[in-house]
Amino acid sequence: LLLAYDPARRLARLQVSLERAAVNARMLYEILDTVPHQRDRPDATELKLGEATVELRNVRFAYGNGEEVLKGVSFRAEGGKTTALVGPSGAGKSTIISLIPRFYDPASGQILVDGQDIAGVTKQSLRDGLAYVSQQPYLFEGSIRDNIRYGRSGATDAEIEEAARLAYAHDFILAQPQGYDTPVGEQGMTLSGGQRQRLSIARALVRNAPILLLDEATSALDAESEAAVQKALDQAMRGRTVIVIAHRLSTVLNADKIVVMRDGQVVEEGTHLELAQRDGVYARLHNLNSGVTEKSLSTEPQSAGH
Ligand code: ATP
Repeated sequence: LLLAYDPARRLARLQVSLERAAVNARMLYEILDTVPHQRDRPDATELKLGEATVELRNVRFAYGNGEEVLKGVSFRAEGGKTTALVGPSGAGKSTIISLIPRFYDPASGQILVDGQDIAGVTKQSLRDGLAYVSQQPYLFEGSIRDNIRYGRSGATDAEIEEAARLAYAHDFILAQPQGYDTPVGEQGMTLSGGQRQRLSIARALVRNAPILLLDEATSALDAESEAAVQKALDQAMRGRTVIVIAHRLSTVLNADKIVVMRDGQVVEEGTHLELAQRDGVYARLHNLNSGVTEKSLSTEPQSAGH
């Protein structure tokens, strides 16, 4: 039984499966710390983080030989502020989020973190500065503690517990049969959607990284879980540079900047007030949706209107 939970063995198996398969990149983000190192440029330098501002400059990108999905995207996510990406499905929001940890590289253009082109820094130093919370948190077979530790392999038990407290997960963890040692994943305890999300937020928090990439969940949680997840996210976002694929109206309203995307391009950007006053894409989305549904900002205005 002990062997079955041996972290080194599990990690070895994980690495093998990561190398073998083209694993869903969204899952990889959550475990940035355990992804096998890819090669850096020989002249790569260490990323020096200051205020943690992220800037995209005329970024173009296509998957393989496919169609161009980012057609010259530029925007700035200010350090310590929240930038919300909104727009219809397929607009390229997730693709942007995948380029920042360099799971893919732009065909042209640059992504800068504190003025340094990420193409020229070591992937390790770049990823040390990033944390990611996905829509569908992935739990590995292993204990709750191990699952949080995937955020940062060197984290101590005390750091794991601190992250769990901040993520409003500590109390439900203690209520499990074996507390932090409770097995989860395929053969372990079944956790609710909200509990899984809070574990994923704890995993991000244990990294203590200045930049948080967040893919907000679209699936509905019951009101109580929703409130707990929101409080956990508020903790995770505090004092960090946040780039969020926003699905909830409240996230958009609270963002310092909204970047409206459509068809691989930024069509508008500004605060909610600025954009709502303009007769643009955002104002149309907002008018159509206000009072109707919390979750439809990513819907095409045409289809939402008819
Ligand atoms: P959604 O909210 O539905 O995730 P999005 O705005 O995040 O949409 P992307 O997921 O970035 O949009 O997708 C942009 C385009 O790239 C789409 O046409 C999509 O089909 C395509 N695409 C996304 N991921 C891949 C991939 N791994 N390989 C090939 N094409 C992809």
